[in-house]
Amino acid sequence: DQLISQIAAGEVIERPASVVKELLENAIDAGSTHVEIRLDGGGIKRILIQDNGCGIPKESLSLALKRHATSKVRNLDELESISSLGFRGEALASIASVADLHLSSKVEGSDGFSIFKEEITPAALKKGTRIEVTDLFYKTPARRKFLKGEPTEQAHCLTCIKRIALANPEIDFSVFANGKGVLSLPPSTLEARLERMMPKEFLEAHRTVSAETPSVKLYGWVCLPTAAKTRTDCQYFYVNGRFVKDKVLTHALRQAYADVLHGSSQPLYCLFLEIDPLKVDVNVHPTKNEVRFRDSSAIHQFVFHAVENAISQSVL
Ligand code: ADP
Ligand code: MG
Repeated sequence: DQLISQIAAGEVIERPASVVKELLENAIDAGSTHVEIRLDGGGIKRILIQDNGCGIPKESLSLALKRHATSKVRNLDELESISSLGFRGEALASIASVADLHLSSKVEGSDGFSIFKEEITPAALKKGTRIEVTDLFYKTPARRKFLKGEPTEQAHCLTCIKRIALANPEIDFSVFANGKGVLSLPPSTLEARLERMMPKEFLEAHRTVSAETPSVKLYGWVCLPTAAKTRTDCQYFYVNGRFVKDKVLTHALRQAYADVLHGSSQPLYCLFLEIDPLKVDVNVHPTKNEVRFRDSSAIHQFVFHAVENAISQSVL
């Protein structure tokens, strides 16, 4: 079973950033409003994430670390219309199979407990969950060899944190790397979070996108082409709160830019698409950056027109 877990982990856990993503999604699913993230050695040495969410009751602690143990899906119908971020019940088990995982948690009105290597002990902590992952891939040196240097792995972690933070502006995030504060995001509106996180060039040349049909809604900001060099880290697209990289959406954006600006400029954007969960399949790949729309040409049209509208107004 250890081997099966390690193989499954290979699909989900590629690098420290994958651990960060899974743990943050769990913290969000738990209703946290404050999340603290600590990365040491690019996250290879240590990732510590502490949230103030609902916590895990003592009797569920060992189950949380078992494969296909999820508290989030009760039947197949629910899997179709899933709205929580995690639903496969394999993230914690996968991480625990390729690193040391210390889990401590406390639910309201109860004492806190820790679990490490299947042993449960009392722990003092505030309501919420604290997960510490140390020495990623130390049991699988072949995989560890594929990691890049600590600065690169840290940068991947920060990219992942930013993607999640933009989609959850009401959550307070603080991030430390090797003990130093690197990102502090107080709870705010989406606008305020964008203003805090986007580079100056983006803020100076942004246009608001807002479009809605009875079945789909798009909102957010796009940036007009600027003289400044292209910042590819400013391409954020979310479908129902999930960061995605999707060919249909990227193509629609490029086409809108090409039509209006006759240039080859890279679109920069932070856009949120909201759609009936039954009209989109998010269950394509375990890392879940891909989506499949039931009617992708309608979505393409809709996004294209909404973005074209936003950027053409200012060019005319
Ligand atoms: P999934 O998120 O797919 O359910 P995970 O392996 O990520 O599976 O987590 C297993 C279970 O552990 C979750 O279903 C949830 O009940 C619990 N859990 C994990 N992290 C947290 C957290 N930060 N706060 C509360 N519960 C958590
Ligand atoms: Mg999860």
